[in-house]
Amino acid sequence: MAVIRDVMPAFDLLQPESAGDAQKLLQQHGSDAWVMAGGMDSLDWLKDRIKKPGVLVDLSGVEELKGVRATGDGVEIGAMTTLTEIANHPGIRKNYGLLAQAVELVASPQIRNQATLGGNVSQDVRCWYYRGGWPCYRAGGNICFADTPVGRNREHAIFGANRCVAVHPSDSVPALIALDAKFVVQTSGGERVVDAEDYFVGPEDDITRINMLRPGDLLTAIRIPAAWAGARFYFEKVRDRNVWDFPLMNVASAARLNGGTIAEIRIAVNAVSPRPMRLQAVEAAVRGRAADADTGEMAGKLAVEGAVPLQYNAYKIPLMRNLVKRAVAGAGQPQGSSTLASNALAQEATCRS
Ligand SMILES: Cc1cc2nc3c(=O)[nH]c(=O)nc-3n(C[C@H](O)[C@H](O)[C@H](O)COP(=O)(O)OP(=O)(O)OC[C@H]3O[C@@H](n4cnc5c(N)ncnc54)[C@H](O)[C@@H]3O)c2cc1C
Repeated sequence: MAVIRDVMPAFDLLQPESAGDAQKLLQQHGSDAWVMAGGMDSLDWLKDRIKKPGVLVDLSGVEELKGVRATGDGVEIGAMTTLTEIANHPGIRKNYGLLAQAVELVASPQIRNQATLGGNVSQDVRCWYYRGGWPCYRAGGNICFADTPVGRNREHAIFGANRCVAVHPSDSVPALIALDAKFVVQTSGGERVVDAEDYFVGPEDDITRINMLRPGDLLTAIRIPAAWAGARFYFEKVRDRNVWDFPLMNVASAARLNGGTIAEIRIAVNAVSPRPMRLQAVEAAVRGRAADADTGEMAGKLAVEGAVPLQYNAYKIPLMRNLVKRAVAGAGQPQGSSTLASNALAQEATCRS
C-alpha cells in the first residue's frame, strides 16, 4: 500500500495559554489528543501519517512551562524550556554541568533551539520498523521485525528486550537520572512527582507506552535537587557521526568523593534497553572504593553481566563496558577533564581494550 509522506493529516490545533487550560483540553479529548512541544518528534509522526490524532494541543504559548527557576532545594526546569536555554544557563552550567553537557550533544543547534526538555525525555523510540508504520508489537501487531534473522538491529537493545528490542534514544535522560531528578506530572488525579527512572515504562509492563503518561496527563517540570550540585560528573556519548546523531550509547555519572574514595555515585546508561538503565548494582559495588582504573574495570565488567546481543549489535557490550569503566574512573579526575573535546579521543578507544 502506498504511503503519502510529508503531508500531514488534518487535525484541530488548540493553543492554550496556561498549563491548567492545556490539561483541561487534554483531559477533554483523551486519547484523540497529542501534546506538541517543540515538534521535533511529533512532526515526524504526523508528516509520515503514522500517528493521526484528531487534536493537537500545542504548548508553545504556555509561558509558565518555560524557564529555569531556583527552588529551596535546587532548580526546577519547565517542561517547555529549550535544550539551548538549558545548555547556556549559567546556573545549570555551574552546578549541574552534567545536564548541560548532555543536552549540548543532542542533535544539531537548530534542533536544540526548538526541542524542549519535556519533549526530549518523552520522545518515542527510533526503531525504523516501528516509525515506518510496520505492524510490530509496539504498534499493536504480533512480531518484532528488528529481531528476526534479517532484521536491522545494529542500534537496538542488549538488555530488557521483551518482544520489542528498540532502545530509548534520549541524551538528557541518563544525566537526569544521575542527578536524581524528579519529574512533575499533572494527572486527572492530581500532581504526581516521580523519580526520573520511574517515569519510563518497559515493554514488559506496557509495550505500547514508553513512559508513565496516560491520555490527559501533562509533564510540567523537572526538578533537580541541590544534593548533587557541583558533584563530580562524567558524560560521554558515542554516535556514528560526531556532527549530530542519536546516541549509539551514552553514559552519565554523578559522584561525591571522600579523598580518592567514592562516597556516593549514581550511574545511568541509555540506548541499551527499551527504558533508560540506572546501574544500581554497579553503584553499590564501587561505593567505598578508589575512583581509579581498577575500580572502573570492575564496574565495566559488572555492568554488562546479563547482556544479550542481537545479530548486529554485539559491539555494544565492549562499548558499554568501556563507557561505564570511564564513567567510574572519570569520577576521580578533576572536574572538567571529561569534557566534550575529550569525548572524540575517547571514542577512538571505545571498542578496544
Ligand atoms: C534529526 C534529529 C536528530 C536528533 N538527534 C537526537 C540526539 O542526538 N539526541 C536526543 O536525545 N534526541 C535527538 N533527537 C530527538 C529530539 O531531541 C527530540 O525529538 C526532541 O527533543 C523532542 O522535543 P520536542 O520539544 O520537539 O518534543 P515534541 O516532538 O513536540 O514531543 C515529543 C513527544 O513528547 C510528548 N511531549 C512533549 N512535551 C510533553 C509534555 N510537556 N507533557 C507530555 N508529553 C509531552 C509529545 O506528545 C511527543 O510524544 C533528534 C531529532 C531529530 C529530528
